[in-house]
This record gives sequence, structure tokens and C-alpha cells, in this order.
Amino acid sequence: MPSFNPPSRLLMGPGPSDVAPRVLQALARPTIGHLDPAFVAMMDDLKGLLRYAFRTENPLTVPVSAPGSAGMETCFVNLLEPGDKVIVCINGVFGGRMAENVRRIGAEAILVEDPWGKPVDLDKVRAAFAANSGVKALAFVHAETSTGVESDAQALCALAREFDALTIVDAVTSLGGIPLEVDQWGIDALYSGSQKCLSAPPGLSPISFSARAVDTLKARKSPVQSWFLDLSLVMNYWEGEGARSYHHTAPVNALYGLHESLVALQEEGLEQAWARHQANHVRLRDGLQGIGLELLVEERYRLPQLNTVVVPEGVDEAGVRKRMLGEHQIEIGAGLGSLAGKVWRIGLMGESSRPEKVDRCVMALTAVLGR
Ligand SMILES: *Cc1c(COP(=O)(O)O)cnc(C)c1O
Repeated sequence: MPSFNPPSRLLMGPGPSDVAPRVLQALARPTIGHLDPAFVAMMDDLKGLLRYAFRTENPLTVPVSAPGSAGMETCFVNLLEPGDKVIVCINGVFGGRMAENVRRIGAEAILVEDPWGKPVDLDKVRAAFAANSGVKALAFVHAETSTGVESDAQALCALAREFDALTIVDAVTSLGGIPLEVDQWGIDALYSGSQKCLSAPPGLSPISFSARAVDTLKARKSPVQSWFLDLSLVMNYWEGEGARSYHHTAPVNALYGLHESLVALQEEGLEQAWARHQANHVRLRDGLQGIGLELLVEERYRLPQLNTVVVPEGVDEAGVRKRMLGEHQIEIGAGLGSLAGKVWRIGLMGESSRPEKVDRCVMALTAVLGR
């Protein structure tokens, strides 16, 4: 059996995004013990870098050793107990998964639904708070990767605060791509992913908990039902001064990779990264318009890092994706759920958000569509 050598691809789908050579090099450095003082020092730096990216001072800011979905589950299992009431906003795939997390805990999910392709409607959320007393948390997706829509996280957090509820925010696709202000907006718990705008390989989920969220965790009546994701145990490993206790073996090399991608982000500057994502989105939009393609989402709610492109009448949606990959080595994404077959999803996340990559993608689409 020969070794596996992946083909060369340009990753312009909904994640993973292209990983920079410097991050790949970091991943290939020698593995050391996860309790080695040198590794522990790297973890402290990594936490600082994550606080920079999240714009927070939260001490409990760590990468969960598993993908974004595990970060999602971490937030829900640590903050909720059976019987709690949670307002869950659904305007795409990932809001639906949040509701499923709530239900599996034995908590009550109060759904606020909006059409796919639209942001969360603040008036509906306000009405849900008014109609239900004692809501413990409001959960929503900041950047819906399934539709390419941004919801107003700042306003939603302010609304939750008015009703004294915690906020649980999916920032998997927003972190590093669009403004995200954890402390300023008062987000209580959020999770992200390594493979979207941070452009590290998949498999890690940065999370951050506010002081209020930590107090909620400490005041639990029942133990967190997931042993692996119980932050009160994980914290002893990530936070214990000096002697750190063993919880699980940290994915040592994967963390080197995340560390390097965050060093790159800090070198570029977070605001510069946001501006780059926006500029390349405009470049893509103009290029697509030049060949008669339109974006699904209204301009003011569009995510620069995830562009949903309307498949023109009579065009074979899956066939185009297949040819993009087979003939041009470019991966673009399919539509999900109610948008399946109707849109392509072109991701301009992290390292994939570069002008030359945008141009390559538009040129390939031009050729494949014969325009
Ligand atoms: C990708 C994604 C997830 C899930 O992350 P995984 O790493 O695939 O588990 C969750 N929420 C959103 C908005 C995403 O884009």
C-alpha cells in the first residue's frame, strides 16, 4: 500500500479552507509530551492568541479537542440542565442542530424560525421572550454557513441581556472573517472552528465562556452529562497553575497548527483580516456579475466569507461542481436543505480569501459554464 498523497486543491467551499504552508510546517514539527513545560507554555500563548481573535479577556478561552460540533455541544451541555428553557433561532442548518442539542439535554427549545437566506428577526425573538418567562439562554448562529447570512449578534445579545438571559453563539464561520466582539457585545458562551476563517486543519474548536457563564457552570445542580466535554474537568488541564492534571491527551501537533494560524492572524491584524475578507468578497461578486451570476442573499446581510450563488435556470448544479473539481482542482460547496440544487456556496475563508484565488475561481466558472 503506497502512502496517501492528497491531490492539490483550491478549497473554496464552506470549509475546510486552504491551509497556509507555514501552518502545515508547524503541524510537521516533532511531537512532544502534552505536559512538557514547553508545550504548556505554548498553550498559554495559544489561549492569549484566541483571546485576541475573540476580542475578550475571558480566562476560560480554550480550544476543545474536537471539531466545531463538539464546541457547540460543549456550550450547551455545560450551561443547560434538564428543564431549562432556551430560545433557539433557526435560519439554516446550524440553528437546527442547536435545538437538537437543547432537546437531548432534556431542556426545552423555544424555536424562533426565519426563512433560509434571511437573518434572525429581532422582533420575533423579542416576542418569544415576552411570551415565555424564565428563559435561561438565547442561542443563535452569527454566520450561517448554510445560507451565507449574517445575523445581528450585537443586537441579539443586547436583547438577551434585557431579559436577563445568557447568550450562546455559533461563531464557527464568523471568527476571523467578520467583526466579532465577544466582550463588547456581552456574549456569554461561544464556539468556533479551526478550519474556516482561521485556516488551520479541521478538528479543533476554540470556545470562550464569560464570567457569568462560568458562574452558571459552577452553580449547576446536576453534573454535566458529558464527561469529555465537562469544562470543570477540562479547566484543570488548561488552567491549573504549575501542576496540570491529566484530562485527555491534547492533540499536540494540531495545536501547533492552530497556534501558527493565530500567529499569522495577529501579524496581519484582525481588522485587516476583516477588511481583506470584505474586499475579496466584492471582487468575487463583481466577477460573478460579469458572467451573469447573482448572489442569493440581500447585500446588507451577506457574509463576505460565504457566498451563496444562485444556480441559473437549466444549469446542472452538481455537474458544475464536479467539473470545477475534476478540471480545475477547485472545490466549491453545494446548497443544503431547502437550498439543495438551487445554489453553490463559494467560501472565501482565511487563506482562501486571496485576490488571485478569487480570480482563478471566476475564470474556472466562466470556462465550465461556457460564458
Ligand atoms: C462548520 C460549522 C459548524 C460545525 O463545525 P464542524 O467542525 O464541522 O463540526 C457549526 N456551525 C457552523 C456555522 C459551521 O459553519
